[in-house]
Amino acid sequence: MKVVLPDNSELELPNGATGLDAARAIGPKLAEQAVLVRSNGSVHDLRLPLEDGQEIQILTTRDTQDPDALYVLRHSTAHLLAEAVRRLYPGTKIAIGPPIENGFYYDFEFPEPIGEEALNRIEDEINRELAEGRAWNREEVSAEEARRYFAEQGEEYKVELVDTADGPISLYTQGDFTDLCRGPHLQDSKPIKAVKLTGLAGAYWRGDEHNTQLTRIYGTAFYDQADLDAYLERLEQARARDHRRLGVQLDLFHLSDHAPGMPFWHPKGMVIWNALEDLRRRENLKRGYVEVKTPLLYDVATWVTSGHWDKFKDEMFLVPYGDRELGLKPMNCPGHMLLFGSSLRSYRDLPLRYAESSTLHRNERAGTLHGLLRVQHVTQDDAHMFVTPEQIEEEIFGCLDFAAYLYDLFGMEARFELSTRPDNKLGTDEEWDFTEGALRNALDRRGIEYTVNEGDGAFYGPKIDLHMTDVLGRSWQMGTIQLDSQMPARFELKYMGEDNAEHTPYVIHRALFGSLERFIGILVEHYAGAFPFWLAPVQIRVIPIGEAHRAAAHELAGKLGEYRVEVDERNETVGRRIRDAEVEKIPVVILFGEKESDESLAVRERGGEQSTKSLAELREYLATL
Ligand SMILES: [Zn+2]
Ligand SMILES: [Zn+2]
Repeated sequence: MKVVLPDNSELELPNGATGLDAARAIGPKLAEQAVLVRSNGSVHDLRLPLEDGQEIQILTTRDTQDPDALYVLRHSTAHLLAEAVRRLYPGTKIAIGPPIENGFYYDFEFPEPIGEEALNRIEDEINRELAEGRAWNREEVSAEEARRYFAEQGEEYKVELVDTADGPISLYTQGDFTDLCRGPHLQDSKPIKAVKLTGLAGAYWRGDEHNTQLTRIYGTAFYDQADLDAYLERLEQARARDHRRLGVQLDLFHLSDHAPGMPFWHPKGMVIWNALEDLRRRENLKRGYVEVKTPLLYDVATWVTSGHWDKFKDEMFLVPYGDRELGLKPMNCPGHMLLFGSSLRSYRDLPLRYAESSTLHRNERAGTLHGLLRVQHVTQDDAHMFVTPEQIEEEIFGCLDFAAYLYDLFGMEARFELSTRPDNKLGTDEEWDFTEGALRNALDRRGIEYTVNEGDGAFYGPKIDLHMTDVLGRSWQMGTIQLDSQMPARFELKYMGEDNAEHTPYVIHRALFGSLERFIGILVEHYAGAFPFWLAPVQIRVIPIGEAHRAAAHELAGKLGEYRVEVDERNETVGRRIRDAEVEKIPVVILFGEKESDESLAVRERGGEQSTKSLAELREYLATL
């Protein structure tokens, strides 16, 4: 038989040859380093037979960054973890242990609960196994054999897995540990150069809260110690920037189970919120938007008309109302459609740009909520533009320029993605050809580079999504610009054309911050809490050195009344109060003591630089921030 290699050359092999045989036929070095066979995007164990004509790629220990190569390495490390736990904690039952993004886990039922401190001991045991060396052996057995083996071992979870398994059953053994597993696995443990157990958590068997609670041990592994070090460093940076942690430290907001996924905004968080709202309102006004306000609850019939009922009803909160049912809006569109349709429109009224920063509710599954980044209470900087076909391009330009202006203000660089007709689209292919073409044209004519997500558009039209990559290289979706020919027709919207005939307008849906909640979460992480001066909840803090200086400190704060100024007159040492201002990342701190006056102020900038400035110089300096 023959297999096809990545360079399209063919390799002749005896029938029944395995991936490892193929590697040997190419060269002994490759065979030694081989970790995995990849074939048409899926991964296969080296020990499995290949098929005639199969296209294969053999991954090796040199593919240290390849996700599939890391996947097999981490899966094998999960088995080492289970071996170590069974040795250290006799009587522990093992459940499942898959690789996941960035690592692996294994779920256990311990006879006695273990704490975080146990992780070091277990990690040492894994390192001992690695020093001894392990090799994996794969065998296929009948369900009956597998069942008997795990029943004898007292591994009831494995027995249940055997009973519910479909397809052939394989066992992998390393050392004295055998696991029920589909694989694939490494040949041996030599490529595992760095292991770290990263945490403990509770997890229910099969994810069902009616089942036994198990202990999940998380870990990660790499082909190179330096890769682990870099990963831990990134993790540490992400932790330091985590908006959920900074949100508490900076006293911006909190989340509580009283209102799942719906933030409570504290006064300092509201300063940021309102600064963004002011920005939104000011810039909308400049660009010819008009502000509107539409209801939060609509009869279900309205959602049927808009098309949301079919595609979105599981994500809507519903409220009974007499013998009717109302839905809490997950989007503003239907309200704006009804508003547009409430009077006779002429082409002279277009483009008509409705803006609304209203509260939307989306019923998200509990496990998917994440701080401010995924909430059930969404406040969009939403707008809908009603336009004639001739106005589409110019209007899209306006949105793109607006987006560029906003993101630039925050030092964010947006990436553009064009999403085209999805499987569940409304409307005809001809309509989609037109709307997709209009968006492509606008992007091309503005010279904007973009990627295309085929089939990822909204059900009513194609869209341009705006993503940003943060300082840690993580990508976040922010704004969206969507062109719609469906919803206006479903609401029977009309305008009188120049030709005195009725026409259906197009609608552009657009949000640039996306949701304010998420945008603030992104901003907290983007700036690591050190907001630019204009956005900082407290811009200036005055610290009177002694009790005698309090009155003068307040007087100074009064003179800087156009800024957000606080006086910290707590009975704490000056050093402590300076440190607290640093923790709160306050941009400007002024110390006021015996030597200070309007002619000579001790000014500390965020970052620690200190200088002496007169009040006039301070004002000049503040104006540059
Ligand atoms: Zn496994
Ligand atoms: Zn909309």
